Amino acid sequence: MPGPERTMGPLWFCCLPLALLPLLAAVEETLMDSTTATAELGWMVHPPSGWEEVSGYDENMNTIRTYQVCNVFEPNQNNWLRTKYIRRRGAHRIHVEMKFSVRDCSSIPNVPGSCKETFNLYYYESDFDSATKTFPNWMENPWMKVDTIAADESFSQVDLGGRVMKINTENGAVFQETLSGAESTSLVAARGTCINNAEEVDVPIKLYCNGDGEWMVPIGRCTCRPGYESVENGTVCRGCPSGTFKASQGDEGCVHCPINSRTTSEGATNCVCRNGYYRADADPVDMPCTTIPSAPQSVISSVNETSLMLEWTPPRDSGGREDLVYNIICKSCGSGRGACTRCGDNVQFAPRQLGLTEPRIYISDLLAHTQYTFEIQAVNGVTDQSPFSPQFASVNITTNQAAPSAVSIMHQVSRTVDSITLSWSQPDQPNGVILDYELQYYEKNLSELNSTAVKSPTNTVTVQNLKAGTIYVFQVRARTVAGYGRYSGKMYFQTMTEAEYQTSVQEKLPLIIGSSAAGLVFLIAVVVIIIVCNRRGFERADSEYTDKLQHYTSGHMTPGMKIYIDPFTYEDPNEAVREFAKEIDISCVKIEQVIGAGEFGEVCSGHLKLPGKREIFVAIKTLKAGYTEKQRRDFLSEASIMGQFDHPNIIHLEGVVTKSSPVMIITEFMENGSLDSFLRQNDGQFTVIQLVGMLRGIAAGMKYLSDMNYVHRDLAARNILVNSNLVCKVSDFGLSRFLEDDTSDPTYTSALGGKIPIRWTAPEAIAYRKFTSASDVWSYGIVMWEVMSYGERPYWDMTNQDVINAIEQDYRLPPPMDCPTALHQLMLDCWQKDRNHRPKFGQIVNTLDKMIRNPNSLKAMAPLSSGVNLPLLDRTIPDYTSFNTVDEWLDAIKMSQYKESFASAGFTTFDIVSQMTVEDILRVGVTLAGHQKKILNSIQVMRAQMNQIQSVEV
Ligand code: AMP
Repeated sequence: MPGPERTMGPLWFCCLPLALLPLLAAVEETLMDSTTATAELGWMVHPPSGWEEVSGYDENMNTIRTYQVCNVFEPNQNNWLRTKYIRRRGAHRIHVEMKFSVRDCSSIPNVPGSCKETFNLYYYESDFDSATKTFPNWMENPWMKVDTIAADESFSQVDLGGRVMKINTENGAVFQETLSGAESTSLVAARGTCINNAEEVDVPIKLYCNGDGEWMVPIGRCTCRPGYESVENGTVCRGCPSGTFKASQGDEGCVHCPINSRTTSEGATNCVCRNGYYRADADPVDMPCTTIPSAPQSVISSVNETSLMLEWTPPRDSGGREDLVYNIICKSCGSGRGACTRCGDNVQFAPRQLGLTEPRIYISDLLAHTQYTFEIQAVNGVTDQSPFSPQFASVNITTNQAAPSAVSIMHQVSRTVDSITLSWSQPDQPNGVILDYELQYYEKNLSELNSTAVKSPTNTVTVQNLKAGTIYVFQVRARTVAGYGRYSGKMYFQTMTEAEYQTSVQEKLPLIIGSSAAGLVFLIAVVVIIIVCNRRGFERADSEYTDKLQHYTSGHMTPGMKIYIDPFTYEDPNEAVREFAKEIDISCVKIEQVIGAGEFGEVCSGHLKLPGKREIFVAIKTLKAGYTEKQRRDFLSEASIMGQFDHPNIIHLEGVVTKSSPVMIITEFMENGSLDSFLRQNDGQFTVIQLVGMLRGIAAGMKYLSDMNYVHRDLAARNILVNSNLVCKVSDFGLSRFLEDDTSDPTYTSALGGKIPIRWTAPEAIAYRKFTSASDVWSYGIVMWEVMSYGERPYWDMTNQDVINAIEQDYRLPPPMDCPTALHQLMLDCWQKDRNHRPKFGQIVNTLDKMIRNPNSLKAMAPLSSGVNLPLLDRTIPDYTSFNTVDEWLDAIKMSQYKESFASAGFTTFDIVSQMTVEDILRVGVTLAGHQKKILNSIQVMRAQMNQIQSVEV
């Protein structure tokens, strides 16, 4: 081997300078290793003054045997070094590794002639150790040259450099040493593994080892995983230093945290926002953390009658974001006294109430002469994440005078062959004092152009000189100092035909006809009497209430349907009492004992014996002495309402005593009293079917009332009475509880425009007094809950305000203990936020009938101890039992992005997920506060549901 003419540092080499080499084949078998030699290697050198064996140290300061030669000042250097004979042992190919140092010629001063920095590697094949001092010859032939070796780096001082297998750390992967194929053209694939904190990109990483033992054709590669960056020429993936982060796997380096964020440890994959700053779900991780905007500024309002234009300038600080929008909160404050409440849904906002992008809004359909407060909230993409309410600017305005709204309903009080007496309720928004009404009417078969108008200072009018048996179209409008309001919808009423009239008169006069003898004189007399009755007494001729309830409209009601008449639409409510309640002589009533306390006086039980009828057991409500005229009217209004109803599930009015003192209302007696206390006294005593039967009765009564257009407003178990056959009947049609000045009962909370039983009342009725049959359906759902929990107090000991807040946030009462799932589902349906989505009472009756016919449908239970204050159900969080996998559940709660991290952290079953702590949630990489909250809430609901299920299993 012609040695370099310059210094050669410590040198290892395996095989080659000597021929003696059969090729090897054993997999990764070491044939010779000079690094482990502790004694002299004793390799042959030529000439003897050339290579010299010396002890040295490797990079790790282990002693090793090395050879060196550095005859740079002597000419014609040709230095050979020969290893000992190496047995091939069946190898097909040999892999040689040498470590060496070469000194840089130029670093040695005064070198004469040439100086080499390379050397050659040769081998000689032999079947036995045939080498001697002189054989094979120290010249190129007979040796086979492998390669000329040059150092990648040379050293200039005496130092350790070296040549190592360059393949070892290429591409951030580590490869096992691989034997090359027998042929020099062969390629052997080696599968690589990524270095620590690096991951494969795309395909599995591979290198091919060619026939010369060179690595080539790299396939795939590794790059540092998130939180790590590549350093030291791609041989190490180092955790991002504090204050920097790397969000994704790749070649890029760690970058500084965006503004308003920081890292909590090294190796961060993202930076968490500083206090008071947030990141919206869609914000990229390299975007600065942002905050909520400051309040809008300089609000200008211009009121026009009952509408209003609001304009403002954008907030001083947008929070660092560009997704600023505005929400408008409307609060109506009545005439200024008392608390403000949220505006009803009749107020119109243009272009819309929420998510305004422009700093202006037009608001219309406000009440006249009313104080309003408008809050203009500035909201951006991180408002939801902040624990603070949005900043807002507020403005107080008072609306002006406006024309009254339209009258919504009209009813017929009486009719004759040539007249109709109509009455209507005052418009929902009178917008001031109503001066009078104008009624317009025309024959249905004729054009509207032929209409006649009559004025009435009251809400009732008798239209005369009509044609018999003819349908007329009526419309009415109210007038205030602001002018006329809109006309009501068209309503149709028909005058009596002569035949109808004759029939009604005959029904009224049986005695006269019955006692008349046959003969012309008498007949004439009878005819005269009839005519007199007709002309003088036409108001009474059809005074049976069934007749009064005939009502035809072009609106939503079926022609001929009975509707309820508000006794307060009568100018004199006593008239309504006379119309709808039978006067009973006090001599027929026997009061026996006091059974309760009513709104206006004692409630007693007793007996009623009407002439010609059998004696019956009755309840007698009395009006205590010293009443005012208003109290008397309010007390009796209940009788005029009740007297209009006739249904087995509505408490039946026997009559009233008004002509003697005390004034009394007499109803059928309900042996088991009110439903709430009855259930509490009989806790757990009934079968589910019995309870459903009671509920069915209440629903049937309510269906009847809603068909009559009657809105109860106070449906609650305390207002249902139960008789000895467990028949439930709706009662309590009094209005006085709702009046502002009554403060005696804490169940009823003062609100704008009256008192409200908060726990039983639908949110829209609480918020803006939208009482409808749909709000009665909400209350019915609460009654269902009361019944299934045997009289538990809805929402237990929560305060009214907490109840309002919980409902607003979509929480609902959970199923009471042993409550069939189907019944709880029906309750939830009744508690739909959107009142149009609630079932109608008719549908509720049908659903309950089906349950009673198919009791198996009541087997599935979701029981829960009704005495325990368990969390309300959050209806926005789906029931985990409806999903098969944690992945599906994560999809449903819209947290799909964490599927992989949940899976890889082992959160793969609901049992394990339900145990997750806040730390676990952080550990799986959920760093956004909003997402943490969502997942925690969902887990809480899951736990609550699991507890319920366990309590059934126990
Ligand atoms: P009220 O003023 O309607 O709430 O009645 C007060 C209490 O009297 C009720 O809670 C019942 O306990 C009782 N009560 C009222 N009406 C009846 C009735 N028809 N039959 C039996 N008890 C009644």
